[in-house]
Amino acid sequence: MSQQPYRYEAPVSQSLFDRAAQVTPGGVNSPVRAFRAVGGTPRFMVSGSGPYLTDADGREYVDLVCSWGPMILGHARPEVVAAVQEAVVRGTSFGTPGEGEVALAEEIVARVAPVDQVRLVSSGTEATMSAIRLARGFTGRAKVVKFAGCYHGHVDALLAAAGSGVATFALPDTPGVTGAQAGETLVLPYNDLDAVRAAFAAHPGEIACVITEASPGNMGVVPPRAGFNAGLRELCRANGALYVSDEVMTGFRTSRAGWFGVDGVAPDLMTFGKVMGGGFPAAAFGGRADVMAALAPAGPVYQAGTLSGNPVATAAGLAQLRLLDEAAYATVDRVADQVRTLVSEALAKEGVVHRVQSASNMFSVFFTEDEVHDFAEAKRQEAFRFTAFFHAMLAHGVYLPPSAFESWFVSTAHDDRAIERIAAALPAAARAAARAVAPQQAGGAA
Ligand code: PLP
Repeated sequence: MSQQPYRYEAPVSQSLFDRAAQVTPGGVNSPVRAFRAVGGTPRFMVSGSGPYLTDADGREYVDLVCSWGPMILGHARPEVVAAVQEAVVRGTSFGTPGEGEVALAEEIVARVAPVDQVRLVSSGTEATMSAIRLARGFTGRAKVVKFAGCYHGHVDALLAAAGSGVATFALPDTPGVTGAQAGETLVLPYNDLDAVRAAFAAHPGEIACVITEASPGNMGVVPPRAGFNAGLRELCRANGALYVSDEVMTGFRTSRAGWFGVDGVAPDLMTFGKVMGGGFPAAAFGGRADVMAALAPAGPVYQAGTLSGNPVATAAGLAQLRLLDEAAYATVDRVADQVRTLVSEALAKEGVVHRVQSASNMFSVFFTEDEVHDFAEAKRQEAFRFTAFFHAMLAHGVYLPPSAFESWFVSTAHDDRAIERIAAALPAAARAAARAVAPQQAGGAA
């Protein structure tokens, strides 16, 4: 029997992928999109509407990736589209200040209490890169603590033992990052305050900041243990370092105020992206007024961007945030609850050992028995079961993240019809997961 009974042809996507591979490394502009972890043809999408995506072969999928988080209102939400249309006809980039960026900054500051001031950038990577530079400039120290399995974008200093695509491809590091660039980065196990204590003891007066995903979603969903974030904040305070909370994924998703709205632990600096851009390239970093005052032109730490605060991106982001009231979050939470319950029931029915881990409305499935607290434990799962599960879901019209090390995302647009379609796809996918055989047992087929 084939190990992948549910793989089916997607000829138009395949021909686009072949074309892409001629002009783009690996055929994609971001590695996980290439489906290398699960195999098969990446689906080239042509349109999105509400909870659905349609690919170039004309197949419709219930989308459980939501562009890796941003599309929390579903695709092409009319109010967001209208805001973009209004903005775009007024001109797409001025390279000057504009009111839209002020309004978006005001919305962020109003929502997230620890943010006194915010600087807009164009990607989450830019946000974390700039936050690290600011932390170093403000403290006059060089070292940065990060946690294994946390992904903070492809910032040189933060690519050590990162999650997301780096986890998917099992790359310990990446060529191109020099020893000097990563040499000031200390990588510690996640959820381990003793390790952080030991690092501060070993490097007194040298650590500029500790950066952590507010609640990690890039090694699958691995929430902080009770007291972990608060412990980080206290250790940072006690040692004169800044506590940097990366909310690129959790920001404006896990609550109105992101993960800060869930655990109430106030960071010195925070980073945002994804949801705040409404599907456009807008991101931000912000925090304590005295720290942000060190940023040019107010202070000496340089940071800039041609498209920072872009009028179309800020219009989209603002329209999206304004629609995200408590009722919207209640809907996303309810949808997440429905989907993870259905997934768990289907897998349990087939006797598949698994754990669904969640952080508010973010969740992922680990094919393992024990609770996952860190990257080492995440990697112990039977990821080959995910591959079989993924392809069966895809064949039945449900688009999951193409890796076992990613969060699933839902939106306010996932209505009963979309949930029913997920429910209908699950029995076959659970059976596929149950029957999946580890690659070595299957004769090394990847
Ligand atoms: N930080 C976190 C927590 C992320 O999840 C990501 C992207 O997935 C980033 C930073 C980088 O953001 P971007 O892909 O916009 O550069």
